[in-house]
Formats: sequence, structure tokens, C-alpha cells
Amino acid sequence: MVRMTPSAARRAVPADRTVRRTRPPVTAAVLTTLLTVLLTALPAMLPGTLPGATARADGRGDPGAAGHRTAGGAGAEADGARAAGTAGTRAPKRAGAIVSLTFDDGDATHPAVARMLERHGMRGTFYVNTGTVGHELKLTRRGLAAIARAGHEIGGHTLTHLRLPELSVAEQRAQICDDRRKLVAWGYRPATLAYPFGSVDARAEAAARRCGYDAARDVGGLREFSCPACPAAETLPPRDRHAIRTASSAGPDTPLRRLKQQVFDAEKSGGVLPLVFHRVCEDCGDYSVSPKLLEDFLGWLATRGSHGTAVRPLGEAVGARYRPLPRGE
Ligand SMILES: [Zn+2]
Repeated sequence: MVRMTPSAARRAVPADRTVRRTRPPVTAAVLTTLLTVLLTALPAMLPGTLPGATARADGRGDPGAAGHRTAGGAGAEADGARAAGTAGTRAPKRAGAIVSLTFDDGDATHPAVARMLERHGMRGTFYVNTGTVGHELKLTRRGLAAIARAGHEIGGHTLTHLRLPELSVAEQRAQICDDRRKLVAWGYRPATLAYPFGSVDARAEAAARRCGYDAARDVGGLREFSCPACPAAETLPPRDRHAIRTASSAGPDTPLRRLKQQVFDAEKSGGVLPLVFHRVCEDCGDYSVSPKLLEDFLGWLATRGSHGTAVRPLGEAVGARYRPLPRGE
């Protein structure tokens, strides 16, 4: 969308109206078509001569996604302009979405999950409780290192997975800052946090900020059976980057079609769809999904690239930056 100064807008509107009134509609249509063809062909004819224009329209804040349109940002405006240029016809392509696959609790099954993602050319986000690393059924330091080495995002999930709103300020600081400090000491650069149980209030958000997290993930708030009127995807930039919305966590009863539907809906609205998983194993608890379900979903998700949909770690999707822990925290 081109923004004009008020005076430019005042000049432009009558001129546009005059053209429409005085020229026969056929001439206007021919001119529009010629202009559209020219604008479409120009970048292809002159490769590399318009890098700023194409890069900004296609992947602002998403350097790894060449050609992918971030629907909530500049890409949506480009689509809008194209739709407007075709005078009332529908936009030929859907906006597409960014899907972020997030895995909570530093589970022992996660190194295998990470490899599964890698086989599909995808990278996810793994939220770890440093206080339980090395415990039974949890990640080991070595497992965590292997996940990070492969290019996945490592984020904080607090020391021991308590409900943050029930804690004092000092306890919140210990849970969030000390966990983050430990991740940094282990060589990671955590930029995003996931609140345990998706349990968050204004105090917990303030604590996340104070500990240097540039963004944080909630659980819930997006469209699902219990909230048909909720948005299908988080906006880009997020409405509140320290309370990024998701659909509810996937579990043993989650059918493949629900995951697909969430992606379809997000593709229509644009934005980022963070999906929340925990353990990935057969019949192993309330918050587990089977390896087959995840494999089938990833195989299908990989085909959505042709619809403008890309898979990115959550921090990358929302442009979260690593910041050192503030002094005194
Ligand atoms: Zn958790």
C-alpha cells in the first residue's frame, strides 16, 4: 500500500476519478492489463536489479524464507495490492502462513523428534527445563546439544516447571532468569520462553522481559473447537510478543485432520501458527502424540510450501533476538 501525504492524497483522488469518467472502460482495462504484465515481468527480465523491492515484499523479518510471503506483514500488503490491481477478481494465491513446531519439557524423545523434522528439512523449537535435564525420561545434556547442533531453536521453559502466576517476584526471577542463565552457560542463546502450563499473567510477562527474553509463548488463544471465533493464527508482529498465542497442546486424541485444518485456516488468515507438542511416543501419557501422527503431519506439511506456507522455529518466525541477561537479574 502506498502511503501519501494528505495533500498528495487530495491531488490524487480527483485526478483518478477524472480518468475513470473521461476514458472508455475498455481503454482503462487495457492500460491496467499492460501495467500488470509489465510489473510482473520486470523483475524476471532484470534479475538482481530490484533486490530491495522483491526481498521486502516477500520475506521481511524472515531471511531464511526466500520467496515466502509473511502474510501478516509486508506480503499481505503486496497481495492486497495485486488483488486490487485485478479489479474485483479474487487474489489468485492464498497468503500462506508460517508454522512453528514447538516441543515442551525437554523430553527424552526429543532427539528422535528433531531428526524426524530434519528429514523433512524442518527445524523446530525445543523448550527445556534446565532443572530436569539429565533426569529420568528427560533430555540429557548430550541430547540437547545434538538438537541445537542440527539448527533447532533452544528456548527456556523455567527451572522446574511451576505455575508462574502463583509465585512471588523473587521466585519467578529464579525460575526464569536462573534457567536462562544456565542455558547461556551451556552455550545456548535463548531468545524465547514458553510459560509452563501456558500459565501466564502480567507479572509473569514482566518477569520474562526482565530476564531478557525477546518473546514468549503462551498456550491457547487461537481457533479451536472450544473457541470458533478465535483467530486462526498469531499476527505478525504478534499482538503481544510476550504472550504469543497457540492452539491447545496436541495429545493422544488429536486427529491428523485437526492439525491440517489449523494449517488451512492459518493459510487463509496469514500470520504464524505455533503448534504445541510434548512427548512423541506410543501411548505414553496425556500430552503425548504418536510418532506416526507426527510423521504423517510433517509429510503433509512439507507439501504446503506450494501454498506459501513455511516451517520456521518460533523465534525466527517472530524475529526474536538474543539479548544478554540484564545485570542484576
Ligand atoms: Zn511444559
